[in-house]
Amino acid sequence: MARRFGITLALLVTACSAPSRPASVPSSPQDPALAIRWGLVIHGGAGVITRAKLTPEREAAIREMLAQALREGHAILARGGSSLDAVTRTIVLLEDSPLFNAGTGAVFTHDGTNELDAAIMVGTTRAAGSVAGVRTVKNPILLARALMERSPHVMLVGAGADAFAVVAGVERVEPAYFFTPERWQQLQDKLAAEQAAGAVLATPDDKLGTVGAVALDHARGLAAGTSTGGTTNKRYGRVGDSPVIGAGTYADTSCAVSATGHGEHFIRHAVAHEICARRAYLRLPLARAAHEVVMEDLVKVDGEGGVIALDRDGHVAMPFNSPGMYRGYIGEDGVPHVMIFVE
Ligand code: ASP
Repeated sequence: MARRFGITLALLVTACSAPSRPASVPSSPQDPALAIRWGLVIHGGAGVITRAKLTPEREAAIREMLAQALREGHAILARGGSSLDAVTRTIVLLEDSPLFNAGTGAVFTHDGTNELDAAIMVGTTRAAGSVAGVRTVKNPILLARALMERSPHVMLVGAGADAFAVVAGVERVEPAYFFTPERWQQLQDKLAAEQAAGAVLATPDDKLGTVGAVALDHARGLAAGTSTGGTTNKRYGRVGDSPVIGAGTYADTSCAVSATGHGEHFIRHAVAHEICARRAYLRLPLARAAHEVVMEDLVKVDGEGGVIALDRDGHVAMPFNSPGMYRGYIGEDGVPHVMIFVE
């Protein structure tokens, strides 16, 4: 048994393919001057998104969903709502869309189950809630928020997190709720490819669609949240960066970040906190801090993905080192800006 486990672990570290980056990785921060007075920045995942792979219909549907999420988040902020409420509502909408790898539409584990991760954090108070490996919660971001607001704990995993949903009155669903034919097919393709290769493969495509939001409200309060199904074919209760405070999700009084990408690298680099720390301690502009971490540090280790970041002065940064990242922002003017490629 020990030997079999050893072999499996050896296989796990093989065959991780390098990320394919945009044709020209920008050498300076994108949109360094991009700023809003208050508003919201969101992502719907990063990875191998190419025009060839995306049908016009799917691209239009994704753009419309992101724009709708931005408009709903904006409406909350416009009537004086908190960044926490805007982040929560936006992520719930994206979790409820099968287009993204969060809530319904989550990717499948090796065993054909869905295990969902989510985290939320409020900058002014550093209140945080995080859940990992939940199987029966319709909107994991609501469970993370309930944990933050109604328990002394920050992080719950697995069956305990599902059990807390019962206590907290957070809506639960049958596991079949998360099923989508497309994600199921992705798992079948992955299993077949592994069988053919005789090794565990980790291609960048298999984790597209994590969702996240960061918001700045009228009181200059920041919040960040992220929700994901993780990576297709994940094993042994694998947890990525999304629910790890400081890695995939982080907010403090002056900076908020949500990440998407190859989670193991994002954990090792404490990406979300690192960006905020460079901004605070090195006094770097937010765009420069985010650029350094995503386009330099992560690129060096083939850590594919990107982040959305917002600071208390309204600066927006959305760097990514993959071919595409579903993303968008909306400021006080209420006009949603949605982007996918380097555009
Ligand atoms: N970061 C997520 C994870 O590793 C996946 C993603 O963002 O696409 O679980």
